[in-house]
Amino acid sequence: MPTTAPKIVIVGGGPVGMTVAHALTKAGIDFVLLESRPSIVMAAGASLVMSQIGLRALSQFGVLPAIEKASTPLSICKRFDHLGRTIGDTKLFSYLHEKYTNSMIRVPSSNYCIANTTHSHGCASRVITRRDLMQVLFDALPVEASSKLLPNKKVSSLHKTDDGVVVKCTDGTSYEGALVIGADGAYSAVRKHMATMGGQQDAQGQGGNDEDLPYLTTYRCFWMRFPRLPGIAPGDMTESHGPQATTQYFASEDSAVVAVYERLPQPTRRPPRRYSDEDEAAFVARWGHLPLADNPSYRNAEGIRVLTLGEAYAHRIQTGFINLEEGVVADWSRGGRAVLVGDAAHKFTPSTGAGCNNGIVDVVVLVNKLHKIFATAAAVGNSSGSVKNNASVVPEEELAAAFREYQEVRFDTVTLGCGLSGRATGTASWATPWAKFMDLYVLSVDLVLRYFLRWAAAKTALTPVFDFIEGEDTVVGKYPWVHKIPMPQA
Ligand SMILES: Cc1cc2nc3c(=O)[nH]c(=O)nc-3n(C[C@H](O)[C@H](O)[C@H](O)COP(=O)(O)OP(=O)(O)OC[C@H]3O[C@@H](n4cnc5c(N)ncnc54)[C@H](O)[C@@H]3O)c2cc1C
Repeated sequence: MPTTAPKIVIVGGGPVGMTVAHALTKAGIDFVLLESRPSIVMAAGASLVMSQIGLRALSQFGVLPAIEKASTPLSICKRFDHLGRTIGDTKLFSYLHEKYTNSMIRVPSSNYCIANTTHSHGCASRVITRRDLMQVLFDALPVEASSKLLPNKKVSSLHKTDDGVVVKCTDGTSYEGALVIGADGAYSAVRKHMATMGGQQDAQGQGGNDEDLPYLTTYRCFWMRFPRLPGIAPGDMTESHGPQATTQYFASEDSAVVAVYERLPQPTRRPPRRYSDEDEAAFVARWGHLPLADNPSYRNAEGIRVLTLGEAYAHRIQTGFINLEEGVVADWSRGGRAVLVGDAAHKFTPSTGAGCNNGIVDVVVLVNKLHKIFATAAAVGNSSGSVKNNASVVPEEELAAAFREYQEVRFDTVTLGCGLSGRATGTASWATPWAKFMDLYVLSVDLVLRYFLRWAAAKTALTPVFDFIEGEDTVVGKYPWVHKIPMPQA
């Protein structure tokens, strides 16, 4: 009987790939993680809003206190038009912490009702820099597991073998495993190569062909980090809305970050060109008047006391200029040897702060299934019961079925989330007269917001957890979770 080491090859060491590394460590499944960047923790990328679904999953690794320490909770979001005039606050984040009156929420597709009497979802949404989140995840890995994170490993191809997959890197090294998990972002090499790794032809729209990317880009994003200038308080959060462009701004203890989303003249599926320093300068010249936050220390051209993008740009610490791809890939796996998670499988605009959080929940669903498969194989393969020491073959069909189930569980949720996020970006940038009307006169109405929140809360309550990681549920609020974290055995 042939044997396969149950090593899983993770491609991509972003927040979702690091979540896979943690989950496999907890599951006792051996892995190696290949990351093309020179270091796993780097000062790259903007800040992330971590919501309850992502935080609760990460809490199962014991990292919630460290995340709380490195992040800032969010409350009221002030909104301006492009001239700096207020267009009404959004209290979404405040409502997440507020007490509701006694009522019931029906959980979709079930007869299950949840009592709506306790407090919030159990924790605040928090803004954290990508670097700090990566540092927290890196520091929390056991030393043995962190030695399996390999930077400077750019994956260039995948090859299927009789009992697994070989992943090759541009430096000539290769890594063998029972399967590969592609956590390598929107332009995923795993997605591209899995399409043909078994000799099959590429399925249209899977990204095997560079000219046929699965994501559509309608917006591009300029983001910038700058120091907490006079008049900026930690936790400040604003948006500016108006034709063609919209901003989101968050202030933390030591810095503030703004992202500006600009509608492209034409949506495109072509791979992005790299934006140059000249492109960035032209962008800031075009949108430098956009208000970031009310601030008594500054005054814009209209005489309104706001800090503008142009003024903040003069103090910039770090910037980025990227396309915002959107969409959900049709097939997230090929056979039982390659499967996608996070931005490799679905890509949201950042407006609802949901892309990374959903990537983390992908990992929950996928690794729950892998844990069951590898634990069963280990029990059959040897009597020690150790998943890590398993030496039996994991049948490809079994993995393929698990991957299909994983996609089924996640597909509708991420498709809905992706659509909502795109609509939020379109509404805030007044993509149509109707979007402008909704933005100014409907979505700012408190009652509408509360209705939306209750609808979203019922869906959020269905979010799964790692079913093999025991522990206390520290993220418990007024909407009880449908899936409970298993209690530690006495
Ligand atoms: C401005 C902005 C703001 C955002 N705000 C939020 C937010 O508030 N909340 C939220 O939930 N989401 C947010 N997002 C989305 C979030 O950043 C992504 O969803 C998240 O980073 C996805 O993580 P990932 O690990 O799947 O992919 P990535 O973060 O793209 O990481 C992929 C990793 O794979 C590596 N890689 C790529 N190719 C290869 C290769 N061939 N070989 C080896 N390694 C490779 C890359 O170097 C990278 O480290 C935001 C996005 C942007 C642009």
